[in-house]
Amino acid sequence: MVASKYVYTFEEGDGKNKMLLGGKGANLCEMTQIGLNVPPGFTISTEGCLAYLEADDLPGGLWDEVKQQMSALAAKTGKGFGSADNPLLVSVRSGSAMSMPGMMDTILNLGLNDQSLKGLIKQTGNERFAWDSYRRFIQLFGKVALGVDDSLFDNLMLEIKQEANAKQDIDLNADALKKLAGRFLQVVKQQTGDDFPQDPLTQLEIAVKAVFRSWNGKRAVDYRKQFRITKEMAHGTAVNVCTMVFGNMGNDSATGVGFTRNPGNGENIIYGEYLVDAQGEDVVAGIRTPHSLADMAKEMPGIFKQLGNLRERLESHYKEVQDFEFTIEKGQLYCLQTRNGKMNAMAMVRTSVEMAEEGVFSRARAVGRIEPAILEQLLVPQLAPDFKGEPLAQGLSASPGAASGRIVFDADTAELRGKSGEKVILVREETKPEDIHGFFQAQGILTSRGGKTSHAAVVARGMGKPCVSGCEAIHIDDINKKAKVGDTTLFEGDVITINGGTGHVYAGEAPTVEPEFTEDLNTLLSWADEFAKLEVRANADTPGDAIRARQFGAQGIGLCRTERMFNSTDRLPIVQEMILAETLEERQAVLDRLLPIQRSDFQGIFKAMRGLPVTVRLLDPPMHEFLPTAAQLELEITHLRHLRDTIKGLEELPETLKLLSPNLHLKYADGLTGLTRALDVFKENHLDEDAIQQKETTLRKVRALAEVNPMLGHRGVRLGITYPEVYSMQIQAILEAAALCAQEGIVVHPEIMVPQVATVEELSRIHGYVERMHQLVKLKHGMDVQYKFGSMLEVVRACMRAGRMAETAQFFSFGTNDLTQATFSFSREDAENKFLPDYNKSGILEDNPFEVLDEKGVGDVMKIAVERGRSTNPDLKIGICGEHGGHPSSITFCHSIGLTYVSCSGPRVPIARLAAGQANLGKGTS
Ligand code: PEP
Ligand code: MG
Repeated sequence: MVASKYVYTFEEGDGKNKMLLGGKGANLCEMTQIGLNVPPGFTISTEGCLAYLEADDLPGGLWDEVKQQMSALAAKTGKGFGSADNPLLVSVRSGSAMSMPGMMDTILNLGLNDQSLKGLIKQTGNERFAWDSYRRFIQLFGKVALGVDDSLFDNLMLEIKQEANAKQDIDLNADALKKLAGRFLQVVKQQTGDDFPQDPLTQLEIAVKAVFRSWNGKRAVDYRKQFRITKEMAHGTAVNVCTMVFGNMGNDSATGVGFTRNPGNGENIIYGEYLVDAQGEDVVAGIRTPHSLADMAKEMPGIFKQLGNLRERLESHYKEVQDFEFTIEKGQLYCLQTRNGKMNAMAMVRTSVEMAEEGVFSRARAVGRIEPAILEQLLVPQLAPDFKGEPLAQGLSASPGAASGRIVFDADTAELRGKSGEKVILVREETKPEDIHGFFQAQGILTSRGGKTSHAAVVARGMGKPCVSGCEAIHIDDINKKAKVGDTTLFEGDVITINGGTGHVYAGEAPTVEPEFTEDLNTLLSWADEFAKLEVRANADTPGDAIRARQFGAQGIGLCRTERMFNSTDRLPIVQEMILAETLEERQAVLDRLLPIQRSDFQGIFKAMRGLPVTVRLLDPPMHEFLPTAAQLELEITHLRHLRDTIKGLEELPETLKLLSPNLHLKYADGLTGLTRALDVFKENHLDEDAIQQKETTLRKVRALAEVNPMLGHRGVRLGITYPEVYSMQIQAILEAAALCAQEGIVVHPEIMVPQVATVEELSRIHGYVERMHQLVKLKHGMDVQYKFGSMLEVVRACMRAGRMAETAQFFSFGTNDLTQATFSFSREDAENKFLPDYNKSGILEDNPFEVLDEKGVGDVMKIAVERGRSTNPDLKIGICGEHGGHPSSITFCHSIGLTYVSCSGPRVPIARLAAGQANLGKGTS
């Protein structure tokens, strides 16, 4: 049997095998092999780690390999492990296939003992540095490898500082540090019962085992759970043993970190910091202020040249921006580590475009290397990166972006104060369609109830406004215009800040940074469009939304929810009148008034989207959503009745006063006469009675329309069947708007879409209305308007009957919000802030299915519908317009099942374009 090999020198390890050598180890090997100056060393593989963890013992042969490599290292460097003249010191670092910064352990200066310390003093001529290194090593080794409580060392440090009258660590001289090292050695003995290991090989063995064990340490396990690092992505940690080099050997030595390009904005310059005559730790600990690498050109021109060369070689080899660590020891540059640079969105976009144009990588890679979701940073305002406020509460991250403003508790006040130029945040338990005018004027929305697909969340996303929903810690008392969060009471007018990207709510104003849609982003997205097979459309309800969506690059509108137009303040009363109408004639009369309003809305949208398709969905929500609630009406009726009684009392006031105080009566006689006259007018006009009667009629209607499960009730196409005149009016408005636009020479592609369809017969009936209206518009306007007719697929039955549906429909659009609700039988209004978080936490469900498409269940239903639909109608266009249409991994899925387009809220269009490009490029580009 061939013995297993666990140890690989940097010269022999396979730089591509990160699973075996970890990311750091693989890169050290690769850098060595392409001729970069890496201090010599070797990597113990992750297989060694797994074998050790399994047997709780180093596997046979591993230690012999390590000893052999330590001898080779000594020979190569001309130094001796534990030598009192020229000691070889090593760093021992963890490194798994996935980067887990700071999660596992690292030990520096291993090999120091009472002997080699003398050697280090000799080598460096710096006694203070040597003792400082020794005491650091004892502490780190003590803590990491021997499990000694860190605070014992910290206490001794405090003690010695007091004794030496030193304010900071750096004020301690060599003698004090020597004393401290001695005390540290004692503490190790007290705690472990053994002397601090003096034999360097014993130190190494203990350290290697400790690093292996740190893979299963709580920090690392929690990190893997949090970032969903599976065994397939990283299994075990490698250990890198690397010769120490010192940046603190005088003015020709330095240490620093660099990026091959600026990670903050992507600029093509070397970026980073360094410190002359210092250790890496000093840079991290902030003991001295590092200099920018740009200064090195003057300060150390020779080294700066070497560094520029290193930068070029790193980028041309890795074909990616690199984040590297270096040390200069006596004029010699060493690269200690490199990895792909983590950058913000702006830098990712700029480097993608520039590096593709420089020929470093292909356009496919430029598109594939960016996580689409990070583009959000460029599309909505963000909290300033250096803001560190303590949040007051946390809700759901319902719509990204940050905003500050004064609290208002109702939409009317939001509108009033917003229009007067004030910045306001609309704070409600939950929002309803009639709050829409408040949304327009608010900077952001905060609700205490409702999930990520609640009304507030969906509308805010559509408008690109920040929203935190389901923030249950906030108890809102909108009658008294205040809210309570723990011990804090917030009043109307108080300033708060919400961060819709994280769900945090802060008291007071926090600084924000504005979004930037750069030329580079445009270029990158145009490349993504070229690669994409999926079209990207927007969900947009108003001409303003449509214009914005087009600016974001939408290739059409995939969902125009017509009810949103019904909710603006000038239209709602007419819509309410329509609902309250008792007869068909009455209703038709109101519809005749609504027709021109809807027509002009559609004209606006068609104009904004000239040349591109616009899918208009016929009315969907249950009627009662346009009416006040029963509770509100009851309250108003009670108030009005009180008013009526008060008026009755006032009628008797003059006589009563005359009786009780003739003088007073005389004094106010004029006023009382005026009051009596006013009351007479009030009575003659039946103002109170009329108002009460009207509210009572509305209340009766509201009660009649009330449903136990309105979302599964009288809505969507069911309304269109019972009230054909309502759908007919909408269809007429769409077709006439198209005719009028066409007469002006504007090319329009209207698509009429029916919501909530469950049976083919429903769809056919509505198709009948459309055909009738088409004829009517032809006669009236002399135009044969070209249109498409289609169905939403958001009811499971419709998906199963997709084959027959597709004989009537020219297109389908998956409404995955409702389809998810229907497939899971989860109410989307309730699930997200009741049991879903627990389901996610305990692993019953990996994701929130209202956010990330459930491919296994809902996705399978979709797949069946696509196959059946295309089997009877091969030209069928199929899209998605639920919230998942803007989610990158869901977009990949939509691509894989052959959808024609995805449609998402306007501000997510750029994210969807990038994701659509990546979906067709497939794996291997990111
Ligand atoms: C859907 O159900 O996915 C959809 C787009 O419709 P709504 O969210 O308006 O119900
Ligand atoms: Mg729906």
